[in-house]
Amino acid sequence: MIDKEKLLEVKNLKKYFTADKKQVLRAVDDISFDVYKGETLGLVGESGCGKSTAGRTINNLYNATSGQVIYNGEDILVKRSPDEIKDMNKKMQMIFQDPYSSLDPRLTVLEIISEGIRNHYPDLNKEERQVKVIELLELVGLNKKHANRYPHEFSGGQRQRIGIARALAVEPEFIIADEPIAALDVSIQAQIVNLLKELQQEKGLTYLFIAHDLSMVKHISDRIAVMYLGGLVELTDSEELYSDPLHPYTQALLSAIPIPNPVIERSRERVILTGDVPDPSNPPSGCRFRTRCPAAMDICAKVLPTWREVKKQHYVACHLYE
Ligand code: SF4
Repeated sequence: MIDKEKLLEVKNLKKYFTADKKQVLRAVDDISFDVYKGETLGLVGESGCGKSTAGRTINNLYNATSGQVIYNGEDILVKRSPDEIKDMNKKMQMIFQDPYSSLDPRLTVLEIISEGIRNHYPDLNKEERQVKVIELLELVGLNKKHANRYPHEFSGGQRQRIGIARALAVEPEFIIADEPIAALDVSIQAQIVNLLKELQQEKGLTYLFIAHDLSMVKHISDRIAVMYLGGLVELTDSEELYSDPLHPYTQALLSAIPIPNPVIERSRERVILTGDVPDPSNPPSGCRFRTRCPAAMDICAKVLPTWREVKKQHYVACHLYE
C-alpha cells in the first residue's frame, strides 16, 4: 500500500534551452506533480516530449530555468553547500537507458560499483567495500564471479543490473529510472521491471519511472503522468488511466498497445495519431496537442487548457473537461 506522505514535490518546473537569441527550446514547460513515499510514478510520453529532461532537471543534472523541486520539505534547487549536494546525491540516484554508455568501459564491475561506496562511506576499507559490492551483485541477480569483469563482457540486461547495483550502492531513497528498459529485448524488460519491483519492496524505495510507451509501465507504476511537448496532459492512478483515459493523447497512446487476444484486438477502435510531434522551440498556440488531436475545437487553438482535477485524483489539461 502506498504511504501518502509526499517525498518529492515538483512545482512549476521549467527547463528551457537557448540555441540562439531567437530560438528557445521549451523542453519542460511548467510541470507540477508530487511523488509519494514508496510509490512508483510512471512518466510517459513520446521521445522528445521532455520527460528525460524533466528527470535530469529534478536530479539537478541540468539547471532548472525556474520552478521548485522540494524533497522531504526542502527546496533542492536553491544554492546549497557541497556537503548538502553530496547528501542529496546519496538520497537520489539515477538509472540510465543505455547501461553500456553509462558504465565506464575501462573499469571492472567491482571498480564501477565501489566508486559511490568510496565517496559516501569513506570509513570502509577495501575488503569491506568488496563485501558490499558482492552483496549488491547478488541482490541484482549477478554473483561474485562477475566482479572482476568489464562492461563489454555482459549482455544488455546484465549491464542494466550492474547499473541498478551501482545506484543502490549508496543506499538511496529515491531513484529516477530514465527509460531503463527501452534498449532491452521484451523478455528481458519484464525481468528488469520485476527486479525493480522486488527491490522497491525490500528497501522501501520510491521511483520516478520514465518510459516512452504505456505497455510495460503499467506493471510497475502506482500512478502515471503523461507528458506531451514539454507539458503534463494527464495524471492519475494506473488502473484509472487504463480504464478511463480522458485526454485524447492518452487515449491514442493506449490504443497503440497491442492486445494479446486476437478477437478483442480485431474489434477495438484505434485512435491513429497523424503528423509528427511539433518542434518544441515553435509549439502550436493554445493546446500543444491540437495539431494532432482528433477532437480539437476552435478554442483549442486560442487558449492553453488549464491543469485541473476532473475526478478524484485524476488530473487532465483539456478543454473537453472544462
Ligand atoms: Fe484536443 Fe482541444 Fe483537448 Fe487539446 S484541448 S487535447 S486540442 S480537445
